Amino acid sequence: MSEEKKIKLKRLESSKVLGKFMADYYYELDRAAKTGERKIAWCTSVGPAEILRAMGFLVYFPETHSAMLGSSRMATELIPKANAVGYSPDICSYLTADIGAYLEKVSPLAKIFDGIEGPPKPDVLVFNTNQCRDVQDWFNFYGQEYDVPVIGVHSYVGVQEVEAAHVDAIARQMQDLIPPLERVIGQKFDLERLKETVALSRECSDLWKQVLDTAAAVPSPLTFFDGTTLMGAAVVGRGTQAANDCYRTLLAELNQRITDKEGAIDGERYRIYWDGMPVWGRLSAHAKLFAGLQTTVLASTYCNSWIFSALDPDDPFNSMARAYTELFIVRADAPKEAYIRNMLDFFKVDGIIYHDAKTCPNNSNCRYGMPQRIEKLTGIPSLTINGDLNDLRLISDEQTKTNVEAFIEQLAENK
Ligand code: SF4
Repeated sequence: MSEEKKIKLKRLESSKVLGKFMADYYYELDRAAKTGERKIAWCTSVGPAEILRAMGFLVYFPETHSAMLGSSRMATELIPKANAVGYSPDICSYLTADIGAYLEKVSPLAKIFDGIEGPPKPDVLVFNTNQCRDVQDWFNFYGQEYDVPVIGVHSYVGVQEVEAAHVDAIARQMQDLIPPLERVIGQKFDLERLKETVALSRECSDLWKQVLDTAAAVPSPLTFFDGTTLMGAAVVGRGTQAANDCYRTLLAELNQRITDKEGAIDGERYRIYWDGMPVWGRLSAHAKLFAGLQTTVLASTYCNSWIFSALDPDDPFNSMARAYTELFIVRADAPKEAYIRNMLDFFKVDGIIYHDAKTCPNNSNCRYGMPQRIEKLTGIPSLTINGDLNDLRLISDEQTKTNVEAFIEQLAENK
């Protein structure tokens, strides 16, 4: 990708604010793990973080560690270590990279943050299978290793309409988490604190949505590739004031770009929607590839996964149950297609890229005819690229480049 090397990506000033937020977050966890001054809960990325935070836990999300293993390109060498202890190369490469890193006692955290050696030891692990079953197996591995409780919510999958019965069942499971969590933290659950946390989390969700929605402007002030790192505060910090403050700063900068008609890339000609996971080890290469083709990849299913508009502090359990079940990944193909069609319209999209991530069928929506159905209904063409979120052995850079270039040429002919 030699031409891409010459392309200079524009950085948002507020990414520094987000960077500081992430540093503070990891140092606080590290301090707590070393001193024992706070209990630590590990949580899946769309798990019930609000409950944990309201009960006084510091919350760590292993998926962000896995994404770092991917973006630092450490993952590919670590995955075989997990394969060797029984975790198949075909399952989630977040899981296999993370377990591989644990077995090898290495971590990108140690490279990025002075004094941090690795992830903080958990006191409890809390999953929600709304995204996939892999998270339960992943957490069970650590539950055994650290000899700590593993509890969770068993979600529905393939949901057409989210109905009262779904909400009721998930809300009950969330309430059932409270007694074991009280035993771990040694404090009583406080409903008022949960309401406050849900209010902050809802505010975070609203701000994050406003950030992502700025990409509807022409030219777009934001790319998907920016979003994959900027979303860190929504993933790990929802329910905290600090995360909301970061997004206010970011939003102001993006709105200024809109006022100035300053695009995230120079000379935007084509606008692309990305469905599926990023290829973490190729974020910069992909950002440059598209920028070089005057194409903004500006919206995605992935970054929008941390919008929880149903959260309501006056009805915390039911609204959390609804918010975590309404998610795209939990839904059947018909609501997923309706969702993507709205996105195409709102963001004024010329084409769609589907990332078929080999080890994450849950975030790969191109395997059962969806691209063809959406193209038939909207006339918007698509390209599927084969790859993976973390395992770079499953990626052909040359093939991706050739296919993307041909696709953009096709968009040019259609204009
Ligand atoms: S959704 Fe995909 S990437 Fe995320 S934990 Fe599950 S299998 Fe892994």
